[in-house]
Amino acid sequence: MKIIMLGAPGAGKGTQAKKIAEKYAIPHISTGDIFRANIKEGTELGKKAKAYMDKGELVPDELVCDLVVDRISQADAKNGYVLDGFPRTIPQAEALDAALEKINEKVDFAIDVDVPDDNIINRMSGRRACVSCGGTYHVEFNPTKVEGVCDACGGKLILRDDDQPETVKNRLEVYHAQTQPLIAYYTEKNILKTVDGTQDMAKVFTDIVGILEV
Ligand code: ADP
Ligand code: AMP
Repeated sequence: MKIIMLGAPGAGKGTQAKKIAEKYAIPHISTGDIFRANIKEGTELGKKAKAYMDKGELVPDELVCDLVVDRISQADAKNGYVLDGFPRTIPQAEALDAALEKINEKVDFAIDVDVPDDNIINRMSGRRACVSCGGTYHVEFNPTKVEGVCDACGGKLILRDDDQPETVKNRLEVYHAQTQPLIAYYTEKNILKTVDGTQDMAKVFTDIVGILEV
């Protein structure tokens, strides 16, 4: 099962992708997490990506596409995967399709987690991320047992630099200009499924499972 998560930054793609990955025992591949891990390790890729991420801009396609094509060709991805945060542009979607076509495969579902911009600002300002494992929480909607401490690994929680309100506004603009056109792209391919992302997390997941198990 090859699944793509679409939706604005903060729509809940990562939250749902994690649950999908657990339920169907497939890897959750988040390009944002890959970049953040590279930044933490101080790699060349991390240095290049950080400059774009801090401004709320997209990392150039040429730094993203090969990385994902390489990742999905690893052994743990042979039964499928859930891609979170990729593709984010039409050229990225085309690069993915071209890579899959070469091995006679295709994406099965593109799930759009639909949340209006007004809700997004609130979601992002309350999001807290673990500096150690990347786990994501929300101060109101998904709080940790102990404030500021990751439930999963005990790591410290932070507000991501790119979740500051000014950067979020830019990320939303970038989303509408560069990523939203993917909705038409996957509608055309007859694999787009939309879920109402304003519902609580459990209900959003139930709706997604309903889509995947028809
Ligand atoms: P994305 O991966 O799309 O950027 P996240 O999954 O990180 O988004 O979710 C953004 C924030 O909103 C997180 O703090 C998360 O805990 C919270 N969140 C996710 N889904 C919901 C939901 N259905 N209702 C309320 N808050 C949510
Ligand atoms: P995310 O964790 O998915 O919200 O991604 C955080 C940031 O990483 C984005 O704002 C972009 O700067 C960068 N990024 C992640 N995935 C991609 C992608 N597929 N293409 C370009 N930039 C990306």
